[in-house]
Amino acid sequence: MNPFVCDLPAYRVIFGPGTLAQLPDEVRRLGARRALVISMPAEARFAEEASRQLGDMSAGVYAGVVAQHVPVEMLKAAAEHAAQSGADCYVVIGGGSTVGVGKGLALQTGLPIVAVPTTYAGSEMTPIYGLTEAGVKKTGKDRKVMPRTVIYDVDLTMSLPSHISAPSGMNAMAHCVEALYAPDANPIVSLLAEEGIRALARALPAIVKDPSDRTARSDAQYGAWLGGTVLGAVAMSIHHKLCHTLGGTFNLPHAETHTIVLPHATAYNREAAPEAMRRIAGALGATDAAGGIYDLVGTIGAPRALKDIGMPEDGIERALDLALQNQYANPRPLDRDALRTLLRRAWAGERP
Ligand code: NAD
Repeated sequence: MNPFVCDLPAYRVIFGPGTLAQLPDEVRRLGARRALVISMPAEARFAEEASRQLGDMSAGVYAGVVAQHVPVEMLKAAAEHAAQSGADCYVVIGGGSTVGVGKGLALQTGLPIVAVPTTYAGSEMTPIYGLTEAGVKKTGKDRKVMPRTVIYDVDLTMSLPSHISAPSGMNAMAHCVEALYAPDANPIVSLLAEEGIRALARALPAIVKDPSDRTARSDAQYGAWLGGTVLGAVAMSIHHKLCHTLGGTFNLPHAETHTIVLPHATAYNREAAPEAMRRIAGALGATDAAGGIYDLVGTIGAPRALKDIGMPEDGIERALDLALQNQYANPRPLDRDALRTLLRRAWAGERP
């Protein structure tokens, strides 16, 4: 076996139905006394319930998360509210947008986060934060933004509609796919990534078929946990770079962009990362990794074409300029013509 470094941050996970009830104990365990519960307006009912359970330990609810990618103005408003509330801990209940606000606050104050994720984005398992200023999103890594405790309560995901569940799960799968060919991949992370793909490939079609399938919902949370873990542990490559660029430049929805680009980014690396391809295809039960992902996207009825989510065709050259600006590790060298083909196919929704 080749030498490697495996750097997984410590975290605590509470997994299972009804586990939101353990929130007060988990906040107490961190030595906190006043937890501010943060959510989007649409998830305020969960936040209110959490606040009720916290009782005297609640610093109230802040349901002011109204956008993705943590715009700095939104974070400033949240920070003012949090300071006035006297909070010494943040409880974030929602998807990656809400977790992102908690991370932005923790970056400023160093206070601990308890995350209760309700989508499959996986942000709760990473020390990665993002902030958007004047339309430009910058990301960074800092252990202090990593939630100390994560509560995966399947009950809070039952209301996630299929059209959000499916792309959100593919976002988690994208983390797993790129972890398998990461420049700093290691055997432990690869095992987690492969298992994440397997869990998500099993769960997502079942959720779309029957959104009330609790077993499938909890499998998807398990896959999301693994996806987030590997995202935080190793470097991501061409797929994440392209999605970051496309999302930021054309204001495309995060999870849908990942869903559409993933089969094409996988195909781009098909020849250069054969062992990763073998493992991805095996976990999907497919003969070809990229084709298997494309078929899965079709099965779960998620979008397949960038043109269908608002990407202009004449934006392809601009996206290429930006994606090639900084060089980064990828199994196959970055080639403008080959990347143009990738983006054209993803734009049109063609088979990779
Ligand atoms: P999101 O948090 O914006 O949520 C998407 C939608 O789902 C929202 O409309 C929300 O109201 C709804 N929703 C959430 N839970 C629900 C539920 N239980 N029932 C019904 N509706 C529900 O989207 P997301 O895809 O989870 O997160 C995207 C953001 O997370 C992006 O900003 C992305 O950059 C970030 N992200 C960060 C990391 C990281 O490691 N830092 C990882 C993944 C994603």
